[in-house]
Amino acid sequence: PSFNEYNLSQDLLKAIELLNYKEPTPVQEQTLPHVLEGKDIIVKSRTGSGKTASFAIPICERINWEENKPQALILTPTRELATQVSEDFFHIGRFKRIKVVALYGKAPFHLQAKQMKQKTHVVVGTPGRTLDHLEKGTWDTSEIQYLVIDEADEMLRMGFMEEVQSIINQLPKERVTLLFSATLPKDIKDLSRAYMKEPTLIEI
Ligand code: AMP
Repeated sequence: PSFNEYNLSQDLLKAIELLNYKEPTPVQEQTLPHVLEGKDIIVKSRTGSGKTASFAIPICERINWEENKPQALILTPTRELATQVSEDFFHIGRFKRIKVVALYGKAPFHLQAKQMKQKTHVVVGTPGRTLDHLEKGTWDTSEIQYLVIDEADEMLRMGFMEEVQSIINQLPKERVTLLFSATLPKDIKDLSRAYMKEPTLIEI
């Protein structure tokens, strides 16, 4: 397998080369084509498999740089994961100059609100703080085309399901939804039935 098989732009291929990713991991091989085609997927896999790049690469590829409003929302259970994912987006999107903002608790709300007023392509957030920003009207979700629910089972375990649902209810219905989870308990399956369009299940 090779990253040359996906018709990625030079900006993306250069970034992948700089990261020293020689070839796609199994999860990337399975996930990339679906996301590039705009299909919903449920990916059952764990951290360490290269799952972050499996959604960051195709989402960065599809982002319209000219659009100033956020086009992708990534929900993560923890601040640490939000930071990690936003750094991965920064590295993968560096030559395309993708703008990423991370929204999480215990950091000043007003600074995040100020960042959201600037051009932002990708928002990576924990459910509580992301919902806070939505309720205070600091950002406009009307251009969101990609929603990623990362580590969905962890979000369930931490009691974030209601917040996740309130957030999803404020997003455009016309969008691509990607759900990543190490396990698929009933509540996650219910969530996917309620909010995803004929998702393909990918198990690594
Ligand atoms: P993740 O599962 O997203 O936490 O990624 C685990 C680690 O694998 C991270 O350090 C990534 O930078 C790295 N990684 C992701 N994709 C590749 C790849 N295709 N080749 C080599 N390393 C990778």
